[in-house]
Amino acid sequence: MNKLKLLASTLFACFWAQTATAQMPPTSQIMQQADTNGDGVVSKDEWVAAGRPADRFGMVDVDGNGKITPVEIDTLRARMGQAGAKSPAPSPAAPVAPPPASVAASSDGMKVLFCGTGGPLPNSGRAQSCTAILAGGKLYLIDIGVGGWDNLRRMGAPTANMKAIFITHLHSDHIAGVGEASEQSWINGRASPLIIVGPEGVDGLAQGFNLVYERDQVFRKAHHEHGEIRFPLEAARLGSQTVTIPKPDGTTIAWKDGDLTVTAIRVNHEPVDPAFGYRFDYKGRSIVISGDTKAWPPLAVAAKDADLLIHEAQSNPMMLAASRAAPTSRASALLADTVTYHTEPADAVKLARQANVRMLVLTHLTQAGMPGFPDTFIAGIDQGEKLDWRLAQDGMTIDLPVGTTEIRIQER
Ligand SMILES: [Zn+2]
Ligand SMILES: [Zn+2]
Repeated sequence: MNKLKLLASTLFACFWAQTATAQMPPTSQIMQQADTNGDGVVSKDEWVAAGRPADRFGMVDVDGNGKITPVEIDTLRARMGQAGAKSPAPSPAAPVAPPPASVAASSDGMKVLFCGTGGPLPNSGRAQSCTAILAGGKLYLIDIGVGGWDNLRRMGAPTANMKAIFITHLHSDHIAGVGEASEQSWINGRASPLIIVGPEGVDGLAQGFNLVYERDQVFRKAHHEHGEIRFPLEAARLGSQTVTIPKPDGTTIAWKDGDLTVTAIRVNHEPVDPAFGYRFDYKGRSIVISGDTKAWPPLAVAAKDADLLIHEAQSNPMMLAASRAAPTSRASALLADTVTYHTEPADAVKLARQANVRMLVLTHLTQAGMPGFPDTFIAGIDQGEKLDWRLAQDGMTIDLPVGTTEIRIQER
């Protein structure tokens, strides 16, 4: 019986981890097949005549002029984070700059590090929820699940400068990496206590991890503290700051440090309550992170005119298909349960337009690796009005230099 259970769970894990991500054919191949009159662009008639779905034409025709250019095909490929993608053509909303030499912001500004863009299910190539923001030389995390710490290390994040971890909610895929982030950043030289900021329950989270790592900290100090190398135990202990937002659609300032203000935003991830998003404002630049939430109009108000909105997304039709294909009735039920408290990609795009943000990045991509990703995942997105959006990838960074309107993306 136990062997059967093991086999079922192994098959289930393999189903998620090994399903190949759909790839678009090369741009040149699409043009060769579809541009039958050889004028360098593809009309809708040519698109359909080449056997491509009519409802996907608008997805590719980014400027909505009824003709698809090779640049527009490359733009879609970049949004989907596919290998070999070329960056989209520079536009006032998102100039493309050369990649920065290192993960440190090259000039004053904010930098986002995508250290975990997956969801709770096993997902090769994506860690669980983890976003990092560098502002004024200090590092802040917004959630950290399994795998997030490894990504931060690979990306060369200045973890000794980590000041706080903002927790959106207490689901395991958002908190499982807190212990490693705390302990390893201290080992790397963090000299002041790390603060866990978030909704009711973060005090217990901090206390729990303090208990778990108590002995390790004593061992590390005894073994490695010599000469000028210090391991202050008071810096190793996690602190906590509980944020309360009484109104279900309210906001409150959760953190202020110099020019940085972080506002907690109440979102709706019921039955997980309270659940927060966060807005980072620094010297005129702004980033909003949704956390896990169903489509929640008050978030559009809180995200008004932000430079960058990083929003969770889940395709419910894909999730229900996965539920039907699940190997056990338990797995099937768990997958079906999730459709009530996440946001459809098309609704995240609508919300981003309402908020008038300049760029949207979809994350918490539980479904990356499932059949239908990314084609079905993004199929419902209305391309009617211009909005620069893309799918997050682990290892991607975005720079927002102060004193400019630039949004500089570096793919992994
Ligand atoms: Zn989650
Ligand atoms: Zn959640």
